[in-house]
Amino acid sequence: MSQTTKDEILKRRTFAIISHPDAGKTTITEKVLLLGQAIQSAGTVKGRGSNQHAKSDWMEMEKERGISVTTSVMQFPFNNCLVNLLDTPGHEDFSEDTYRTLTAVDSCLMVIDSAKGVEDRTKKLMEVTRLRDTPIVTFMNKLDRDIIDPLELLDDVENELNIHCVPITWPIGCGKEFRGVYHFSEKRIYLYESGRGNKLHEVQYIDGIDNPKLKELLDEQQISDLKEELELVQGATNEFDREDFLAGKITPVFFGTALGNFGVDQMLMGLTSWAPAPQGRATLNRFVGNDEEKLTGFVFKIQANMDPKHRDRIAFMRLVSGKYQKGMKLYNPRIEKKLTISDAVTFMAGERERADFAYAGDIIGLHNHGTIQIGDTFTEGENLKFSGIPNFAPELFKRIRLKDPLKQKQLLKGLIQLSEEGAVQLFRPLQNNDLIVGAVGVLQFDVVVARLKSEYKVSAIYEAINITTARWVECNDKKELENFKRKNQNNLALDGAENLTYIAPSMVNLNLVKDRFPSIILKSTREH
Ligand code: GDP
Repeated sequence: MSQTTKDEILKRRTFAIISHPDAGKTTITEKVLLLGQAIQSAGTVKGRGSNQHAKSDWMEMEKERGISVTTSVMQFPFNNCLVNLLDTPGHEDFSEDTYRTLTAVDSCLMVIDSAKGVEDRTKKLMEVTRLRDTPIVTFMNKLDRDIIDPLELLDDVENELNIHCVPITWPIGCGKEFRGVYHFSEKRIYLYESGRGNKLHEVQYIDGIDNPKLKELLDEQQISDLKEELELVQGATNEFDREDFLAGKITPVFFGTALGNFGVDQMLMGLTSWAPAPQGRATLNRFVGNDEEKLTGFVFKIQANMDPKHRDRIAFMRLVSGKYQKGMKLYNPRIEKKLTISDAVTFMAGERERADFAYAGDIIGLHNHGTIQIGDTFTEGENLKFSGIPNFAPELFKRIRLKDPLKQKQLLKGLIQLSEEGAVQLFRPLQNNDLIVGAVGVLQFDVVVARLKSEYKVSAIYEAINITTARWVECNDKKELENFKRKNQNNLALDGAENLTYIAPSMVNLNLVKDRFPSIILKSTREH
């Protein structure tokens, strides 16, 4: 591999932000983009791209509801690194996309509302990052408000998320009394000024806790309290250790306010300095290292109809190794076909001449005319299959039915395609002709009906159905499996990819079945 390619790969940092809705993910994304000079002033992130791509109905829907349905990629330089920030849908109804996006990053930024502490969705997302021990950087947000005691906040993270906190900065006051943060290793106090959130600005600082200048900021008592507190915190917490961070055992913690654009720069310095360069990934065949010459990658998301004129879809592929060049041929082992990729979408902000290349760690968008599925691997010819891209068991189910019965074929085609894309899951009972749609979040149902109408020209409606959850069925013993199938005919279905699933009317029922058929594995996640 050429030195340039090696250097390009090593400077990449691919991460996503995880948080509970309203903790400040959008706001911090904006400030990170400001710092990366990818945007000039804040207030421009929501609705980005809206003038580049014609909007389809469901994008309209997203706008109306003020949520972000789509995952996009923002690339910008910072601290001698090239950062790929993968946006994840904030609304919990689109969590499947979020989960899968987390398989495409090498680190995460966890944003916590310091007035609330660890919230539900953060817990769930952290569970997903734990599947691969993804390194986590933490930002305690909203210090311009009254917050939970900082030591209690750290305790909360440690107890709820089972990861050790290493504070890199420490807040001085909060709410109206928020003065800034003390940076432990730099031994520097950064001073907060309110009302400067929208533009980049020089942050004032004071070096050393014994610096006489500090007296202009705090009175004697406050200074001695602060010193005492800092000693206490240092005594109670470990020093930052990069190995432990990379192993997902500790999280460096920064304090600040995204709205006030304070503390975000320190966090981004920490993240780019410590977060890993693009990591290799396991396949079912072998481990693929990030230093391999040949291109490999996997598709973690498909987004439909960015351009409704062409009715095509964009498959987002994370490159695991090698270098993409415009016009190159990529091999899809699942369908055993080579495709010439002449018009992949790349996401380099501002530097047009570079747009024809991408390197391991980057995301590229492939135009998909129905041949690419979530979970697909691409190589230069080798037969590989990346593992670990999950499907989650839906928790909501509805029967879907046509208003016009003549279009049954169109409906089925639409549902199968939408399920391949991961927009929704489809179940077809073995015993009848029902079409059952399963979702992780309730908004997915609306998106499906809107897209069936605009893309497949079918009007469909939902009916309630008595299903609580679904499990994918596996069993090594053929006889046992046959026995299980015979006795549970009424609760069995095939999913969109024809995998056998058990659809349970209640959790009680599911638990009974588990007790009765101990040799049958009922899985709540399935790999694509
Ligand atoms: P998301 O749902 O996680 O993307 O959260 P947003 O970034 O949309 O923020 C939710 C709300 O919290 C918005 O009203 C923000 O203006 C507000 N917010 C975000 N960061 C801060 C902060 O540091 N301080 C205060 N006071 N409000 C903030």
